[in-house]
Amino acid sequence: MAPSEKNEIENFIRLLSKLPGLGPRSGRRAALEIIKRKDQLLTPLRESFIEISEKIIVCENCNNIDVISPCSICTDVRRDESIICVVEEVSDLWAIERSGAVKGYYHILGGVLNALDGIGPDQLHINNLNKRIKENQVSEVILALSATIDGQTTMHYLSDLLQNDKIRISKLAHGIPVGGELDYLDDGTLMQAIVSRTNTD
Ligand SMILES: [Zn+2]
Repeated sequence: MAPSEKNEIENFIRLLSKLPGLGPRSGRRAALEIIKRKDQLLTPLRESFIEISEKIIVCENCNNIDVISPCSICTDVRRDESIICVVEEVSDLWAIERSGAVKGYYHILGGVLNALDGIGPDQLHINNLNKRIKENQVSEVILALSATIDGQTTMHYLSDLLQNDKIRISKLAHGIPVGGELDYLDDGTLMQAIVSRTNTD
């Protein structure tokens, strides 16, 4: 089979294959499933895509995505205004929200520093983070960034930048995942866990 590039089904597969976690093979399977289940999947997906593309906006305050700006997190008055949790992407905000561990507000950087890719401080949402901290009663900034080299570089950059007497700057602990067995850990995680060991109660 040599489908032409203009074939609608091939085009649909090509687009689906670009999604994270899907390659051409999974893209084909997903496309077929969607096409076969017109009422349950195809039509609702079509409506959802239209809605999403028309309504989603970026929060002017924290750079989260929502249908309102400021977003539903920034406008939630039950949160603790003394805490701002800084994350790389919206997916990180979602993960932390699922954990329920942070009761404060968020700030999405939109990435991390990476000299090779040309991502400097100006490419990230750092200016408005500084502004938010100065204009609000913030007493703690949690730098919830990845344990990658770029994530850690960004963390050091931000902790130097935001350093002042009134603010506690914290970072996530790295170590053994809950339920994790030692011999399954990679060397870096195990080393971090040993380096950041704490006293037993
Ligand atoms: Zn927001």
